[in-house]
Amino acid sequence: MSRYNYKMRKVKRIRKNCKTCKTEIFTIKSRIRDGRGKFCSQKCVSKWLAKYKKEKAFNWKGGKVLSNGYIMIYKPEHPKASPQGYILEHRLKMEEKMGRYLQNEEVVHHINGDRRDNRIFNLKLHKSNSGHFREEHPDFPRDYRGRFIST
Ligand SMILES: [Zn+2]
Ligand SMILES: [Zn+2]
Repeated sequence: MSRYNYKMRKVKRIRKNCKTCKTEIFTIKSRIRDGRGKFCSQKCVSKWLAKYKKEKAFNWKGGKVLSNGYIMIYKPEHPKASPQGYILEHRLKMEEKMGRYLQNEEVVHHINGDRRDNRIFNLKLHKSNSGHFREEHPDFPRDYRGRFIST
């Protein structure tokens, strides 16, 4: 026990500020090395992580975000943009190729199955989702009426 106390006395405490709320905290060197000792509480850790994640997602490749595995691009001036101002990149690429806006029922298929691979030669336009599934995903699960179960 005395040995333990001796060790404790030797550890130098370092004054820091919580990264989230700036409250003064005391920590020791080894904790900082472990990536700890930056926050006053678990609450502040979660807060910081949430904020960091949001910023990271927003800034991903400059104005691109992921939604359900699809890349969305920030284009608030597009007529089909979401309320947040985003549009699916593969639809946008197809529109650029076609030189017109896509109809709502038109579907852009990813030839190699990779939803994030929006190179134009990986994209194929279908007039409707049923045609898209019939031609491209015939093994896709169907409901009891034979309709494709969309994911
Ligand atoms: Zn804090
Ligand atoms: Zn498809």
